Amino acid sequence: MAWRSSGPTNEALISNLKNHGLIESDRVKNAMLKVDRAHYAPSSPYEDSPQPIGHRATISAPHMHASACESLLPYLHPGAKVLDIGSGSGYLTAVLAELVSPNGTTIGVDHIQPLVDLASSNMRKSDHGKSLLESGRVKFVKADGRKGWNEGAPYDAIHVGAAAAEHHQELTDQLKAPGRLFVPVEEEWSQHIYVIDKKEDGTVERKKLFGVQYVPLTDAPPEQ
Ligand code: SAH
Repeated sequence: MAWRSSGPTNEALISNLKNHGLIESDRVKNAMLKVDRAHYAPSSPYEDSPQPIGHRATISAPHMHASACESLLPYLHPGAKVLDIGSGSGYLTAVLAELVSPNGTTIGVDHIQPLVDLASSNMRKSDHGKSLLESGRVKFVKADGRKGWNEGAPYDAIHVGAAAAEHHQELTDQLKAPGRLFVPVEEEWSQHIYVIDKKEDGTVERKKLFGVQYVPLTDAPPEQ
């Protein structure tokens, strides 16, 4: 069903994702309508598939972005604080920022400086994106996301856009109580999405969802 959601425009793509049940809520639909994927994907922006963005990174497929937003949605209220690890193109960071608007904060972390710069310059393509950056409601930083971003913690929601080789304790530590982490985890021969909830009393519950294929969270490549 995923690939059948492609369309000629951003509106058509989002409406196909909604009609096929890949976007469930109007909140996610409206947030994705506000961010033009053409500002973030260098080619075939309205195809429901991942696209290369350079530096061995890809912008994930729109149905994966939708699924991440749907999973984190109960924690994405106005004013919430969100961390997007492996922010790459910056697209999902921008959609998450819409979901916590008007007074939330979203931080995108990537370990490749040119991708940190790319995410900012993609976001500056719209006046609205520019104002989110200038007001500090969205920030892109260079860091090793396996350690989260302690400076901005604690977070209501943390999204990880690359597969972790293990359950990184720092990420759970940086969640609010309550808070939710969405993370692909690499196991022996496969990757699965895990949703990790920190409850109000501080207890942690881990749920394994569906199988996925993400690029791995790695050491940063040597600077060129
Ligand atoms: N959500 C992004 C996905 C980009 S692909 C998008 O849809 O555009 C995964 C990203 O994770 C890449 O940009 C890669 O540079 C980044 N990444 C990989 N290992 C990382 C690490 N240890 N710390 C931070 N970012 C990392």
